[in-house]
Amino acid sequence: LQGQMMDRPLMISDIVTYAAEIRGDQEIVSARVEGDRHRYTYKDLAGRAAQLAGALRKLGIGPGDRVATLAWNGYRHLELYYGISGIGAVCHTINPRLFAEQIVYVVGHAEDKVLFLDATFVPLVQGLRDRLPKGLRYVVLGDETHGLEGALAYEALLAEQPAEIDWPVFDERTASGICYTSGTTGHPKGVLYTHRSTLLHSYGLMAIATEVGLTPTDSILPVVPLFHVNAWGLPYAMPLTGTRIVMPGPKLDGENLFRLMEEEAVTSAWGVPTVWLGLLGEMRKQGRKPTGFDVVVIGGSAAPEPMIREFEVDFGVRVVHGWGMTEMSPVGTLTTMGPSLNALPEAEKRAFKTSQGRRMFGCELKIVDEAGDRLPHDGVAFGELLVRGHGVMDGYFGDAEASAAVFDDEGWMRTGDVAKIDVHGFLYIVDRTKDVIKSGGEWISSLDLEGAALGHPAIAECAVIAAAHPKWGERPLLVARLEQGRTATPEDIRAYLSDKVAKWWLPDDVVFVDDLPHTATGKLSKLTLRERFKDHVLP
Ligand code: ADP
Repeated sequence: LQGQMMDRPLMISDIVTYAAEIRGDQEIVSARVEGDRHRYTYKDLAGRAAQLAGALRKLGIGPGDRVATLAWNGYRHLELYYGISGIGAVCHTINPRLFAEQIVYVVGHAEDKVLFLDATFVPLVQGLRDRLPKGLRYVVLGDETHGLEGALAYEALLAEQPAEIDWPVFDERTASGICYTSGTTGHPKGVLYTHRSTLLHSYGLMAIATEVGLTPTDSILPVVPLFHVNAWGLPYAMPLTGTRIVMPGPKLDGENLFRLMEEEAVTSAWGVPTVWLGLLGEMRKQGRKPTGFDVVVIGGSAAPEPMIREFEVDFGVRVVHGWGMTEMSPVGTLTTMGPSLNALPEAEKRAFKTSQGRRMFGCELKIVDEAGDRLPHDGVAFGELLVRGHGVMDGYFGDAEASAAVFDDEGWMRTGDVAKIDVHGFLYIVDRTKDVIKSGGEWISSLDLEGAALGHPAIAECAVIAAAHPKWGERPLLVARLEQGRTATPEDIRAYLSDKVAKWWLPDDVVFVDDLPHTATGKLSKLTLRERFKDHVLP
């Protein structure tokens, strides 16, 4: 029997229209590239997204066309999210930290027609100009074009257009955005999100809204960039729930973040562990947290246990740890708790936060052994993690070969992660399949070793990689950057680790470096490290 409800498609434009009507006076604050702090409301956002839609159409942009952005977190970037997707075009957020040749590659692969860029990126684009497609149009996000030849100024384009629009309604499976993976192996690969996956992912976040600070009385600071997997869905979930938004702009060091959070009374901040290292340094210096800072959402790479402890115990900031991928819409799991787990003593409760959390609504998880058979969710068995759901891609954009390799016979997507899942549904990422250390047929988790080593007071940042070993095949090598002014020897570190991990896990060698390499998304680049230490001889 068919139900009898209207079949209205799920449209991204409905979010901004709803926010303007229901939360119209809620504020959006942006620290700008121009150096000042800009303020307006959801109603203004909707009006300017409508103006942008008119401007895009005037530039000849229509359904299916890809429109690129190179921009920091600010109100204009948010307008692009809504203006582009709203008319059925596809918003291609480019990570400015990609290598030059990767930027050229993704613009070409996506066949972008217009590139909107912050003034900060004018020199970057000028440097790439002769390698970018001839027909590409440029729009600089501001009042002027900052010397970029042939470019248009964003504000002038918008000024000509009406602040009202009847947003078109079309198939909810239409592509709304595209993100490319950072391409640690081979070319970056594109993932095309749909209006439907985006809306359903936002509803998924709303199911746990109070736990992550997504309410109209919260002020959210998205440090996670709008160019990194849709800033974990925040650009959509925030207007839908009517939170106050505080956009950080380009300055993401601890001192600037602390000041912005203090002055704008931020309650919930979202970002990768690297930025929290900086903020925690500033919090330590000032001996307090920014007033009102209640919850920090950490994801993108594993949140180290000492970081979780410092936030929660020393500063009274609740941690929610999460996991996701570009290939998803993008969040898969978050450490949501519930009454019985919340009743546990603090230390026991905190132990769950070192996991990557429990599945979001709409995301199913399974772990399998090497034969592809399911493993139990008992907190012990670990194997490859696969996901399925309305927020998981069903292929890479224009890349049949890469797509074929990622799905199993039942249609689940391989994540490239090794994990275990416990009886409560908490997911523990053990490692990337490529990073796990295979020592004499047994596996050593580089992530667990790093987490333990970070507890050493002299270690500021570290990575564990596999080094070739004649007898065991691979053995762990710890590469560490020390805190300024601290010293340590390899033996100190090994002695410190000796009661924290199994004896056969102890790194065979510890190397100290001044700097560790990072990927475009701020994660440790183990690929670069493996290359650098490929001839390292273990003692
Ligand atoms: P990029 O390589 O561009 O950063 P993604 O953001 O898509 O791409 O990376 C997804 C991968 O990041 C996951 O498959 C997982 O290995 C890792 N990851 C993300 N969040 C976490 C986390 N909380 N803990 C451990 N690993 C994580």
